Amino acid sequence: MEFTDLKMQYRLMKAEIDRRIHAVLDHGAYILGPEVEELEGRLAAYTGARHCITVASGTEALLISLMAAGIRAGDEVITTPFSFIATAEVIVLLGAKPVYADVEIDTCNIDVSRIEAKVTSKTRAIIPVSLYGQPSDMDEINAIAERHGLVVIEDAAQSFGASYKGRRSCNLSHVGCTSFFPSKPLGCYGDGGAIFTSDDALAAAMREIRVHGQSRRYVHTRVGVGGRMDTLQCAIVLAKLEHFEWEVEQRVRIGARYGALFKGHIETVAVRPDRSSVHAQYTIMVEQRDKVALALANLQIPTAVHYPTPIPLQPAYADGYLPEDFPVSSRLSRRVLSLPMGPYMYDDTVSRIVDAVVASL
Ligand SMILES: *Cc1c(COP(=O)(O)O)cnc(C)c1O
Repeated sequence: MEFTDLKMQYRLMKAEIDRRIHAVLDHGAYILGPEVEELEGRLAAYTGARHCITVASGTEALLISLMAAGIRAGDEVITTPFSFIATAEVIVLLGAKPVYADVEIDTCNIDVSRIEAKVTSKTRAIIPVSLYGQPSDMDEINAIAERHGLVVIEDAAQSFGASYKGRRSCNLSHVGCTSFFPSKPLGCYGDGGAIFTSDDALAAAMREIRVHGQSRRYVHTRVGVGGRMDTLQCAIVLAKLEHFEWEVEQRVRIGARYGALFKGHIETVAVRPDRSSVHAQYTIMVEQRDKVALALANLQIPTAVHYPTPIPLQPAYADGYLPEDFPVSSRLSRRVLSLPMGPYMYDDTVSRIVDAVVASL
């Protein structure tokens, strides 16, 4: 069994993926070729945002978004302590300071009731993370941002395809950033990512920053990065997009099946009724995590921990923080365990995994 089965998906979509790859090899526009614009149009339409800017990775999407929003040294950006490192990394890279608001114990997403107390005269932005594939309380976050004149950048690296009150992830705030890392809900076969916004000025800035801050050939009106997504990777996402809606339905269905089978036995990450999760990971919370993981490993069932250490307790980010500063994240980091998940999992595989978890305790 695989933690995320990418080979099965390729086998099913091989004809279309190979056709798209060969079309790029034949036309030769390997950088910013026609597939890049085609994908940006398709993804913008899918999310409902006016602009989509494809970029080199999810991390690059966050970095370019912060740069376009004018985040500079000395600024503060409020975010969650319980995420993949890239969320805070981009803030620190710009010389700004991540200010952490602890998360909710049941969804593992940022706790909005803790955000406003963190706002200072230096605060410029909020980065909520749609962890495991489920958006945070975006209405409340947007309202706080509006009161204080802040930019909201959704880190939707795990949640492309999820919805919130009838709207799609990546189109829930000023800016949404996603990743096409192979194991994300919509993956390519290398690195890739995308930024979404309906703000024309921000989108124009992002397009320039993506290509070294270039407004015209060899005219660099701002400092940028080498942050393009290549044409081949865009072609692969285009091929996969044909089946994406079905895959999202399967992810929601399999997540619900896990949830129903675990109910009354094992605590799982809660999904709020007004939104969906695409379950980039299917995650449970258990006291004896090592024991469960070992029992599953003995049955050839792989597991993973997302994430074993809150960001502010990582060596490079520590800044004198203590586990007690983020009690919920610290507790979750000791208890979370992610199980195999993907749109092509069989129902009896899910049952077998649930049985193995319950029997291990
Ligand atoms: C994967 C991920 C990223 C980074 O995406 P890459 O494409 O790997 O750079 C950022 N934030 C979160 C929450 C992620 O899961």
